[in-house]
Amino acid sequence: MPGGVSSPVRAFKSVGGQPIVFDHVKGAYIWDVDGNQYIDYVGTWGPAICGHAHPDVINALHSALDKGTSFGAPCVLENVLAEMVIDAVPSIEMVRFVNSGTEACMAVLRLMRAFTGRDKIIKFEGCYHGHADMFLVKAGSGVATLGLPDSPGVPKSTTANTLNAPYNDLEAVKALFEQNRDEIAGVILEPVVGNAGFITPDAGFLEGLRELTHEHGALLVFDEVMTGFRIAYGGAQEKFGITPDLTTLGKIIGGGLPVGAYGGRRDIMSMVAPAGPMYQAGTLSGNPLAMTAGIKTLELLQKPGTYEYLDQITKKLASGLLQVALETGHEACGGQISGMFGLFFTSGPVHSYEDAKKSDTAKFGRFHRGMLEHGIYLAPSQFEAGFTSISHTDEDIERTIAAAREVMSNL
Ligand SMILES: *Cc1c(COP(=O)(O)O)cnc(C)c1O
Repeated sequence: MPGGVSSPVRAFKSVGGQPIVFDHVKGAYIWDVDGNQYIDYVGTWGPAICGHAHPDVINALHSALDKGTSFGAPCVLENVLAEMVIDAVPSIEMVRFVNSGTEACMAVLRLMRAFTGRDKIIKFEGCYHGHADMFLVKAGSGVATLGLPDSPGVPKSTTANTLNAPYNDLEAVKALFEQNRDEIAGVILEPVVGNAGFITPDAGFLEGLRELTHEHGALLVFDEVMTGFRIAYGGAQEKFGITPDLTTLGKIIGGGLPVGAYGGRRDIMSMVAPAGPMYQAGTLSGNPLAMTAGIKTLELLQKPGTYEYLDQITKKLASGLLQVALETGHEACGGQISGMFGLFFTSGPVHSYEDAKKSDTAKFGRFHRGMLEHGIYLAPSQFEAGFTSISHTDEDIERTIAAAREVMSNL
């Protein structure tokens, strides 16, 4: 397997060393094949918000398994999860299930173009929308402005219509709209960034995008694959009170099985086949196992106090880590919303990918290795957010902060 992994973010390329191979997971913990236990802050990149292998999810999966793994035809569970998603996410009146966040973003891009009859889109430097060609435009450099692709194998023609702006820079977006009048189908973004490290939207940024897109007849798309059901039950759009036209989901709504979804305004979603002419399909889409894990996970999240608890322990973690970093003499900044957090080794503040790139990544690598030795598993990159779950206890957080103090004192 290239690099020994099935997805590049799992390798330890940016922190040094070899990726750890895991054997099993439970609650807030993961065990490697040598029997070492770690407190896990990756949570399979977000889906494990109820803790790994929650007994309710596992039991429901056992029952679903006995009924078969895929129907390739409508299944009642799709309707159940669809209703839950529609009830929860303010922008979603209709939803289509797919098999990954990448697929959801690919489909939503086609839909933006189909609905508006325009080809260009605006995305933001440092935001990740899956690995489809049209989104693989390098952030930050001069290459980005030219719309040159980030990866070999992506033709220039494919990314020529992908315009980039710095995150939190409304003026840049305004300029792009003015330079490309009546040509922009829409704006897609992570409403809270998790794929360039943890970056929050400045006051007025999301509102400004909502106004600009309205003004120019373009669509606003929140990629909530990571933030959906994470920073609030209804996602960032509930948290910030800004309703986009379309939304992509993934990660949590599959409860640890492969899933994605896109949805939004009924008039736009009605363009999707077979209701309308925009083609998009999937052999395993809406399969009963993924639907079951998603339904159970959302049911668990509906319990009163879930998001208060996530916020409380994650605040304790994020502020604890930051305090330790500052007390041990490091330049650092960071924050959290609900069960999503970040720590940059730069004095900050970090409003954009450009700011995030000022971080001392070599120091992060040493920090990461030190934390591993103390039984703490963090995402192996400075440019990834961290995740907690309702299984993480106060004691886990305290152990993590104590470990960070030891590691940071010797960086
Ligand atoms: C993870 C992620 C994706 C891609 O989802 P996959 O299921 O890995 O294809 C897209 N957008 C955002 C914001 C993500 O965090």
